[in-house]
Amino acid sequence: MTVHDQAAVRMASAEAPVTIVGAGPAGLACAIVLARAGRPVIVREWHKSVGNRFHGDFQGLENWSDDRDVLDELRAAGIETNFDSHPIHDGTAFDAWGSSYRVCGDRPFHYLVRRGGDNGTLDSGLLEQAIEAGVEVRFGDRVEDPTGSTVFAIGPRTADAIATGYVFETDHPDGNWIAFNDRLAPLGYAYLLIHEGCGTVASCMFTGFKRQAEYVERTVAFFADKTGLAMRNPRPFGGYANFRLPRTALQGGHPVIGEQAGFQDALAGFGMRYALRSGILAARSLLEGVDYTPLWQRELLPLLRTGVSNRFIYNIVGERGRRWALRGLSRVDTTAKLRRLYRPSVLTRLVFPIARWRYRAPLGDPSCDHAACNCVWCRHGVGHAATGLTAPS
Ligand SMILES: Cc1cc2nc3c(=O)[nH]c(=O)nc-3n(C[C@H](O)[C@H](O)[C@H](O)COP(=O)(O)OP(=O)(O)OC[C@H]3O[C@@H](n4cnc5c(N)ncnc54)[C@H](O)[C@@H]3O)c2cc1C
Repeated sequence: MTVHDQAAVRMASAEAPVTIVGAGPAGLACAIVLARAGRPVIVREWHKSVGNRFHGDFQGLENWSDDRDVLDELRAAGIETNFDSHPIHDGTAFDAWGSSYRVCGDRPFHYLVRRGGDNGTLDSGLLEQAIEAGVEVRFGDRVEDPTGSTVFAIGPRTADAIATGYVFETDHPDGNWIAFNDRLAPLGYAYLLIHEGCGTVASCMFTGFKRQAEYVERTVAFFADKTGLAMRNPRPFGGYANFRLPRTALQGGHPVIGEQAGFQDALAGFGMRYALRSGILAARSLLEGVDYTPLWQRELLPLLRTGVSNRFIYNIVGERGRRWALRGLSRVDTTAKLRRLYRPSVLTRLVFPIARWRYRAPLGDPSCDHAACNCVWCRHGVGHAATGLTAPS
C-alpha cells in the first residue's frame, strides 16, 4: 500500500461511526473523547436511561492511585466535571474492636459523587456532555450482534463482591465513616457517607452473600451506635462488582473497557477511575490508530496487579493486621500513604505470583449457592432495585 493509500484508509475509517456498547462511565468517557475529536459515535444502551444499576447512592471517585488529581486527569482528556463532586479530605475509620482512627490528607483521598439517572449524578453529567459533543445515544437497545468498529463497555460479568444497604435523608452532619469488621462486612468494609442531608450506608462484602441482610442490619446498628445516625425514608439499594486480571482486553479485535474487562481495584472495589481511564485510552487508540493493548497494559496493569497483591495481603493479615494498618494510616497523610500502598513495591511484587494463582478464577462466594439465597447477586435482573432487603422500620 502506498503512503497515499494509507492516508485514504485512515480518512475513510475516521468517517465511519464507532459503536460503543454500554452507557456507563467507561462507554460515555470513550464517546465524549471520540466525538470531541470529530469522530461520529453511536452509544447503544440496553436500559432506558443511564445509571440503571445504581440508585442515587454515593460512591468515591478515588484520588490516591496517581500523582495527578483525578478531576484534572479528566479535564486534560476533555471531560468536564459537570456532575456533583465533593472533595473528601478526612474521615473516621473503625477497626474490628470499634476503636476509631481519624484519617486525613492534604489532597482529597476521593471525590464523593452520586450514581444513577438523576440530575447531578456522574452518569447524567457524562450523558449530557456526550450529547453536547454530538454523540447519538440509543436507549432501550440491547446489543447482541455488533458490527463495524465497536467498543464494549457493558459492565460486570459476575459478582466477586456485593455492596448493599440504604440510601436515605437525614439531619445528621456531613461526614465519612468506614469500618473494617468482618461481622459487618466479611473481608470487605462497611461505610457511611453523608452529604448535605443525603446519605448512603452499606456493607461491601467479599464473601457471606447469603447472609447479606444480617450484615446490613449490623452495619446500620453499628453506625447508629458510633455516630448517632438516624435515617429518614431509607430505600434499599445494592449491586455487585467484578474484578479480574485480564489476559486480554480485546473481544473479536475490539477494545473492551471498564468493568467488562475486569478493570477494578481488587482490594476495595474502586472501579470508576479505571472505567473512565480505560474509556479515554480506547478512544486514544482509535483516534491515533495505535494498539489498545500496550496502552492499557502500560497505564492500568501495574495498578491492577498491585490491587490483586493488596487483596491477598488484606485477606491473610486478618483483623489484627488491618488494625495495625489503620493505626499507621492515621498517623500520616492518608492520601500520600495510600498512594504508596498502591504503587508496586518489593512486597507486592513478591506476593504477586501467589496472589495471581489464588485469584486465577472469579472469587466465587461459596456461601452464595443460588439456592434459597436472596442476595443482590442472586436477584440481579429481577427489577430496578432488587436488593433482597426491606426498608427498616
Ligand atoms: C453498590 C456499588 C458501589 C460501588 N462503589 C464504588 C466506589 O465507591 N468507587 C468506585 O470507584 N467504584 C465503585 N463501584 C464500582 C463502579 O460503580 C463500577 O466499576 C463502574 O460503574 C463501572 O463502569 P462501567 O462503565 O464499566 O460499567 P457500568 O457502570 O455497569 O455500565 C455498563 C452499561 O452497559 C449497559 N449494558 C450492559 N449490557 C448491554 C448490552 N448487551 N447492550 C447494551 N448495553 C448494555 C448497562 O445497562 C450499563 O448501563 C461500586 C459498584 C457498586 C455496585
